Amino acid sequence: MKRLLAVKTIEKIGESVKLAGWVHQRRNHGQIIFIDLRDKSGLMQLVFTPQNKALYRTADSLRPEWVIKVEGKVNQRPKGMENPKLPTGQIEIEVANLEVLNQAKTPPFEITQASADGKEVNEELRLKYRYLDLRRQKMIDNLVWRHKVVKIIRDFMDRENFTEIETPILTKSTPEGARDFLVPSRIHPGQFYALPQAPQQLKQLLMVAGLERYFQIARCFRDEDLRGDRQPEFTQLDIEMSFVKQKNILNLVEKLFIKIVKELVELDRSLSKKLTFKPFLKLDYQEAIKKYGTDKPDLRKNKKDPDELAFVWILNWPLFEWNSDEKRYDSCHHIFTAPQEKDLPLLDKEPLKVHSWQHDLVLNGHEIGGGSIRIHQREIQEKIFKLVGLTEEETEEKFGHLLRAFEYGAPPHGGIALGLDRLLMILFNEKSIRQVIAFPKSGDGRDLTMEAPSSVNPEQLKELGIKISS
Ligand code: ASP
Repeated sequence: MKRLLAVKTIEKIGESVKLAGWVHQRRNHGQIIFIDLRDKSGLMQLVFTPQNKALYRTADSLRPEWVIKVEGKVNQRPKGMENPKLPTGQIEIEVANLEVLNQAKTPPFEITQASADGKEVNEELRLKYRYLDLRRQKMIDNLVWRHKVVKIIRDFMDRENFTEIETPILTKSTPEGARDFLVPSRIHPGQFYALPQAPQQLKQLLMVAGLERYFQIARCFRDEDLRGDRQPEFTQLDIEMSFVKQKNILNLVEKLFIKIVKELVELDRSLSKKLTFKPFLKLDYQEAIKKYGTDKPDLRKNKKDPDELAFVWILNWPLFEWNSDEKRYDSCHHIFTAPQEKDLPLLDKEPLKVHSWQHDLVLNGHEIGGGSIRIHQREIQEKIFKLVGLTEEETEEKFGHLLRAFEYGAPPHGGIALGLDRLLMILFNEKSIRQVIAFPKSGDGRDLTMEAPSSVNPEQLKELGIKISS
C-alpha cells in the first residue's frame, strides 16, 4: 500500500490507508487513546481501543515527536466528535498496525497548535532547533508557498522570453552601498574574492553580451550592521533588459505582481489579497517627500486590513545626494544609474539638480524593489565615477572591466531587483522575514543551527596565509 498524506485520506472514507509522521499529541479518553499524527500536510486523528492488547500497549507508550507508521481504516467521526477547525476534522483512523520508526527526546519547546507561529518561544531557541521550529504547520506552509511563488515567477519570466542565468558567488566587489563579505584565495595568497552584494555588473555584462532579457532568483550578500529585519544574505528577483525605456520595466513588474496575487488567491481560497491601485500608483520622489514625508509611503486605504496591497512606484529621483561627511556626491541608487537625458547639461555645473531614471517599488510602506535605466556609454560612466570621488586608478582597478565592455557595443539597458523575502513576508501576513526563510541568521548575524561563524583549524589558516591578530 502506498503511503498517503493526512489530507488525502479525506477522499478515502471506508478504505484502508497507510500514513507516516510524528506524534503531535496524545489524549486518553477513558479506555480509548487518541493520537494526533502530524505530517507535512496537517493532522490526523488515530484511534486505539483496548481490544488489540499489543497494539494498545504500543500506542500507550508513544510520546510527542516520535516517528510512527500506521495502517488502518478511515472512518467518519461519531456525531459530536468532529473538529470543524481541521481539514481532516470529520474523519479518524481506526489503527490496525502501528510501527515506531524512531523515538524522540522531549523537544526544547512545544510544537503545539498547528497554526501557532512560534512567537511565544525565544528566538534563539527557535533558530538553534530550527528543524523542530520548522515542524510547525505555519512554517512548513510558508516554505511550500514560497516555492509556489518562485515557480509562478519562473513560469511568468519564461513566458516573457527571459533567460534565467546564474552568475558567480565568488566574484569581485560590486558596490551597492554596503560592506563586502570577503573570501580569501588559497591559490592567490593575499587576494580575495567578494561575495556579490547583487549581480549588478554581471547582469549588465550579459546585456553587452546580447542576452537581452535576463533574470535570476539571486542570492545577495551584504555585510551591514543588522537592523530590524535585515539579513546578511537574502534573495532577490534580479532582472535586466536591453533596448527598453523605464516604462517597459515598470509594466513588466506590474504584470508579474498582478499575476502572483491572482494565482495565490486562486490557489488558496482563504487568501483574499486585493490591489489598492491597479495600475500601480506612480509618485515623483519630491511629491512623495512633500506629501508623505517619506520615500516609502504606506498608501493602504485601511491600514488595519492585512489583505490590502498598495503598490507605489517612486520615480524621478535625484541622481545624487550630497554626502557632507565625505564631501562628495553619493548616488541615490547606485553609480550605474543613468541621468535623465534632459538634465545632462547640468551634470558638470549642478549635479544635485540632475534627475535619474531610478525606479523604486514600495509595498505597504516597505521598499520591495529598486532599479534603473543604466548608463551604457563609457564617457558618462567615467564622469559619474569622478563625481562620486573615485580617482582614475581606483576607477580602472574597480570598474575597468565594465568601462572596457562599454567600448564594444553596449546596448541601452535597464532593470530592477525585487526583494523576495520581504515580498513573501507581506503576502503571507508575517511580521518578520525570518518567518519565510528556512535557515535565517539571528539578530547578530549568526547561524545558530549550524553554529556559524566559527573558528577554523590553524592548518586552514596557514594554507590561506592568514594570521589572526586578536
Ligand atoms: N542591483 C540593484 C540592487 O540590488 C538593483 C538594480 O539596480 O537592478 O538593489
